[in-house]
Amino acid sequence: NATQELLLSRIRDVADHPKPGVVFKDITPLLADPVAFTALTDALSEFCVRHGATKIIGLEARGFILAAPVAVRAGIGFIPVRKAGKLPGATLSQAYELEYGSAEIEVHAEDLSAGDRVVVIDDVLATGGTAEASLELIRRAGADVVGVVVLMELGFLGGRARLEPALAGAPLEAL
Ligand code: 5GP
Repeated sequence: NATQELLLSRIRDVADHPKPGVVFKDITPLLADPVAFTALTDALSEFCVRHGATKIIGLEARGFILAAPVAVRAGIGFIPVRKAGKLPGATLSQAYELEYGSAEIEVHAEDLSAGDRVVVIDDVLATGGTAEASLELIRRAGADVVGVVVLMELGFLGGRARLEPALAGAPLEAL
């Protein structure tokens, strides 16, 4: 549809970033276009409202940029999930495997509780490792995952299949 075409037209392919052979999807042209950024915020908000979210998680760092205006727009609290070592309070941590090595993300333990209905927002779903780890954090906090929504899914990397068990029936939508 027209919104999808607008969003797609504002995503730039950058060859060989961050390393040779990778085509990076750069969203900065979209962020710089207020019409496109507003259309994206509206679509993400609609997903959160439709699924009855009570908390919105943004994944560091581009997920923060997208999720924060959605939280304001939808009137739902924003919770950052950060790379290990950044959050000052008591955290829950989740390690996960990358292509080479591993990574770890954290959330403030007090930000999530039983009964919360959580939507996770990020810009790009690649291998799905980051999103999968965030779903583990949410469940370990006793909260419910009601959906994951991203601007873009890189289908050839198989993230959707990796994420499926952790989604446990919750929807994954790529705009
Ligand atoms: P995954 O854990 O799914 O492999 O990687 C997803 C994370 O890496 C997301 O937080 C996303 O921001 C980032 N990422 C991976 N590839 C790209 C890309 O081509 N473009 C952008 N903008 N982010 C990417």
